[in-house]
Amino acid sequence: MEGCSPSRQLKILERIFEKDVRSLKTSGVINFEANSYEIYWKSEKVHEDRMPYPFYFTDRLYYDHFLLEEVKATGVTVLEGCKVIGLRRDGEKINVLTDEGGRFSCKYLVGADGVTSVVRKYIFSKSHRKLNNEWKKGLAVAFETFLKREKTNNFNSPSLFFGYVNSGYGWIFPNKDKLIAGIGALVKKNELIYNSFKEFLRDLALNHDKIYAYSIPFGNFITGPIMDRILLIGDSAGFVDPFTGEGIFYAHRSAEIAAYSIYESITRNENVSNLYIQLLNKYLYPELRHAKKLRSLIYSCASHLNWRINRLLLKRFADKLIKAVHGASSYNFLKSASSLRDPVWK
Ligand SMILES: Cc1cc2nc3c(=O)[nH]c(=O)nc-3n(C[C@H](O)[C@H](O)[C@H](O)COP(=O)(O)OP(=O)(O)OC[C@H]3O[C@@H](n4cnc5c(N)ncnc54)[C@H](O)[C@@H]3O)c2cc1C
Repeated sequence: MEGCSPSRQLKILERIFEKDVRSLKTSGVINFEANSYEIYWKSEKVHEDRMPYPFYFTDRLYYDHFLLEEVKATGVTVLEGCKVIGLRRDGEKINVLTDEGGRFSCKYLVGADGVTSVVRKYIFSKSHRKLNNEWKKGLAVAFETFLKREKTNNFNSPSLFFGYVNSGYGWIFPNKDKLIAGIGALVKKNELIYNSFKEFLRDLALNHDKIYAYSIPFGNFITGPIMDRILLIGDSAGFVDPFTGEGIFYAHRSAEIAAYSIYESITRNENVSNLYIQLLNKYLYPELRHAKKLRSLIYSCASHLNWRINRLLLKRFADKLIKAVHGASSYNFLKSASSLRDPVWK
């Protein structure tokens, strides 16, 4: 899986790890940069423009490894190759059970275990039928594959493709030495997303490698992702942009908010549940809600309206949308996006 990183994500890295774009480029974490983008209806290019801010591209293996090393350098113990299989409560203690027979006890637990989270399944067990149904209804499926750069060197900008799926889109993202082609869409709005992906690859005559499949939470963010002292962050709580499907920023931001809430609980006896929810309401949910409202409008325009009208809409609103994706403004075009940028730690 590859990553496209807008400015709002990089600002968090700068704040927490003191790594700016230049150092991320020097260390190879950022391997490509684009200042323009293209929009397609099926295989026909319908819009292209320069962007007010560049998009940066990274290989997720490098990016995740970089984060892991930064965390280890602070003295955190990391157990690799060990799978969490369940949780048990024992009075005040939370016991974490692993596939190797391990049992770890803690007072606070953060579930950062992605879309198939064991921790979420523990908190929202089968008895939470409504919540589990909502979660399933909001899942998207994504397929992704890699293409060699030399054969397909005509894509130097991130390119988005509409018309192949409902409530979703296809993409081609450039990296230094490869291209990444993908498609992602809400399962409930599509019949066979895999077939749409094959059609997309065929139309563009893309000679691809193996195809990988993933699940993405797509608008099904959980509004109370906490039980006592067990907190969910990132994909495990569904914190993914409901318009773009981009989730690295939200994973970082919710981690920052969770860490602060736990710190305040330990040092000032704050109620961790109340504080986490309060801060999510301030810093995260408003933007997720605006993005979800906007996506209904944008995806229905993209699939139903005449593309002559869509071109006019893009000319008028594309800059605002790109600024919102970068966190330079809000998806609520009437508001500033300071809640996305403001540091949580005072
Ligand atoms: C095809 C695709 C393309 C994407 N492109 C972008 C993009 O360009 N930009 C962007 O911002 N976002 C993108 N996303 C979304 C982004 O990848 C996620 O939102 C982000 O990785 C979420 O981070 P996370 O830490 O919450 O979860 P994850 O990155 O999924 O990490 C979860 C971690 O928990 C571990 N884990 C899971 N279960 C267990 C267990 N039982 N025991 C122990 N460990 C466990 C996993 O091994 C993994 O290391 C994309 C997603 C997909 C599927």
